[in-house]
Amino acid sequence: MLKKLLFATLISMPFIVSAQENTLPPIPMREHIVYYEKFYHIKAGLSKQQVIINAMQWFKEAFPNQPVAALSKSEQPSAVNGTGLFKVNTTAGNYYWLRFKVSMIPGDGVLTFRIYNVYEKPIEKGITNEFSKIEYRWWDYRNGHPWSADDKPLFNGLDSGVNALSISLEKKIGKLQAPRFRALALYSTNVEADHVDFAYDAIKFYNKLAAKKGFVIDTTSNWEKLNDDNLKNYQLVIWLNEFPHNEAERRSFEKFMGSGGAWLGFHVSGYNDKDTHWPWFVDFMGGAVFYNNNWPPLPAKMIVDDNKHPVTKDLPKTYTAPINEWYGWKPNPRDNKDVKVLVTLATSNYPLGKKDVIREGDIPVVWTNTKYKMLYMNMGHGDMNLTSVVQNKMFEDAILWLGKK
Ligand code: ZN
Repeated sequence: MLKKLLFATLISMPFIVSAQENTLPPIPMREHIVYYEKFYHIKAGLSKQQVIINAMQWFKEAFPNQPVAALSKSEQPSAVNGTGLFKVNTTAGNYYWLRFKVSMIPGDGVLTFRIYNVYEKPIEKGITNEFSKIEYRWWDYRNGHPWSADDKPLFNGLDSGVNALSISLEKKIGKLQAPRFRALALYSTNVEADHVDFAYDAIKFYNKLAAKKGFVIDTTSNWEKLNDDNLKNYQLVIWLNEFPHNEAERRSFEKFMGSGGAWLGFHVSGYNDKDTHWPWFVDFMGGAVFYNNNWPPLPAKMIVDDNKHPVTKDLPKTYTAPINEWYGWKPNPRDNKDVKVLVTLATSNYPLGKKDVIREGDIPVVWTNTKYKMLYMNMGHGDMNLTSVVQNKMFEDAILWLGKK
């Protein structure tokens, strides 16, 4: 049987571009660049400071003559950053230098290890070339257009080199572990400037949290990534400032949510009106349809409906949220028995706004439709949303709750 299959594969090979893909080393990418990220469960008894010391020591042993520094933001060092370098022998006396950034960030029981900004420098038949970004070569190779016979050993060498490094680091720090969860954050840059500002702030915020807590967050402005195949890699999808662009993306998202995926949506990502024509999404939002908003954006007092829920457990009973444009909804999602409202706009804010004024009504701000693993947060307009230490705890708790298996 096996032989038969093999034969069939051989016969059809010239017609299958993916035949070569089977032999591709599993080099990971993020936002179009080669990007390795691994997590280590920090050995019991190792303090953050000791992790930094061990990481520095590991680096110096792995790359004796390479620059490395322990970064410190406050009194305590927060990360180790260095430039790694190793040699890969390819074909007949040719070899390559691979140069890359190495970063090690200790978090809560987790060390995040990253290798990125990889450059390659060929030494072919004794001739030295310049360092250039490995992505150029990798792009062509994985699309079936190798530059030379050196490509295959080069990329295999990169992958096995990084794996060897990560195994030796394991001895210094603790066990390698799978990320807690993987999230895909989608955003757009051609939307309202205030919504783009929020997306960038949120990406920064969640990247930092990901390193601290040991989860992966991939970010993309390419909404076509919202497809069945790609979504298999993720437990959580985040919409930072927009929503799917076409029917195919909508269908893939529905499927993802229907099979136990999680969603975190901010501000305009939950927007829908009579022109949206996506009844599934209205139902998903708990029946909420955009009704009104305040303008200009303003800070507002929040009432926390539930201080025991994992998302709002760290919030006080009331607090003032930073400047945001607040949306009202009709129908009100609170009228849906499956909806659990976690935060509400306090009526003491009314009248809220100048050009557009919210004068009355019960306005839920954060809620979950308990039929799904989803959370909607109305925050997400402008560059102030992540400036409140109090509210930021909810942004943290929200993603950790949704990412929980
Ligand atoms: Zn807005």
